[in-house]
Amino acid sequence: MNTSRLVEFSEDELAELDEVACAAERITPALGAIEVENVRNQARAGAIAERVARRQSASVRSQEMVYRSVAAELAGVTFTTDRSMQVQINQAVEWVECYPATLSAWEAGRITRGHATAVLRCGTVLPRDARAEFDAQAAEMCVGQSVGRVKDRLDHLAQELHPRTLAERHIDARKDRRVGRQSVGDGMSALIACVPEILAAAIDDRLNEQASTIIDADPDGRTRDQIRADILCDMLLTGSPLADPTIDGDGNGTLGMIRAKVQVVVPALALVGKDNDPANDTTTVDLVGSAPIDPATARALAGAVASWERLVVHPVSGQVLCTDSYRRTASMARLLRARDRHCRFPGCRRPAIRCELDHTFDYALGGPTDIRNLCHLCQRHHSMKQFTSWGVRQLGGGILEWTSPTGRVYIDHPPAPLVRFMPSGGGAPPPDGSGGAPPPDPAPF
Ligand SMILES: [Zn+2]
Repeated sequence: MNTSRLVEFSEDELAELDEVACAAERITPALGAIEVENVRNQARAGAIAERVARRQSASVRSQEMVYRSVAAELAGVTFTTDRSMQVQINQAVEWVECYPATLSAWEAGRITRGHATAVLRCGTVLPRDARAEFDAQAAEMCVGQSVGRVKDRLDHLAQELHPRTLAERHIDARKDRRVGRQSVGDGMSALIACVPEILAAAIDDRLNEQASTIIDADPDGRTRDQIRADILCDMLLTGSPLADPTIDGDGNGTLGMIRAKVQVVVPALALVGKDNDPANDTTTVDLVGSAPIDPATARALAGAVASWERLVVHPVSGQVLCTDSYRRTASMARLLRARDRHCRFPGCRRPAIRCELDHTFDYALGGPTDIRNLCHLCQRHHSMKQFTSWGVRQLGGGILEWTSPTGRVYIDHPPAPLVRFMPSGGGAPPPDGSGGAPPPDPAPF
């Protein structure tokens, strides 16, 4: 045995490792083949949608409904959302139409999904008619290389094959500027702004200068990164934009008056707090349509708002029983917002405050304005219900039954409550509020 080596395998271990490596050699092409089969199937769904859309009226809206409906059909059987499925279908169509060489290499197991995705991403800067040349060269470039190594080369290849200059392309790219938000866990989100390079650099520099001034004038233990993030939030939440088309003759505009609106569901116990010790604080508070936020933030919010909507929920089933109310219609809206919390199309998480209240059985056809006939739908799914053959009915207790155009049935339950108390033996269990008609109501609507 050579003692200078740090790692030694026994003969048996080497043989077993060889078996594992052989299995990986066998699995990789098999996996590629099945993944590409899935891509081709999704592209077929895209082709069906395109065929139907072409036959529809010329309106862009009705054509879009076809794509949504087809995506929702596939999303139902693959346990994803129709939005995400529509993205996958679009990607599949692009692979099939523009990158046949890449797809073949992937199917044969010569490259992986990671390579094919990198080819697709790098190729997006190219006009469609320049992609065939790019595809042929890119597929060969990927073979035998790791995705990380080949990405830069793919980028350069796309730049070389591009028929337009960077200056020309920047004019178009600017049109895609946008701001988005992505939850990163532990009650935190990343705010992502896609803006021209020069503006991003300027914002970065200004935050740096302001943070330096704060650190020099009054160091308070916060790091530079923390101060930069605090300044950014402060300015965005309280500042007024310089360009305000609503400014009147006296220099008063309304944009600066607009305040942010967020909806949170707070269990009553979270407001009490437990010695303010985060380690003991096990309750969670839901920022509706997003991720949980910490109870301390919820308590701070509770102290800052002028009014509360108190909800009484069934202690076991969690069904919302009533809300404190002054006006009939306002209370009904509050109750539904508390019950639904988000859009009720299967899989959708758009917060209820960004949704419309829909009469499940059409109001114009005699559907009552009653909590048993109302639910929240986002604009996207409201129009899908109106304009496609997706159908829905209410089963009671806030439960919805959706039926897809091909007849597949999906049951959507109202979201589970955040905190529940179970009876601890003795005494009759409280009446179950789920299913059928709503339970007896202490404040009838
Ligand atoms: Zn929705």
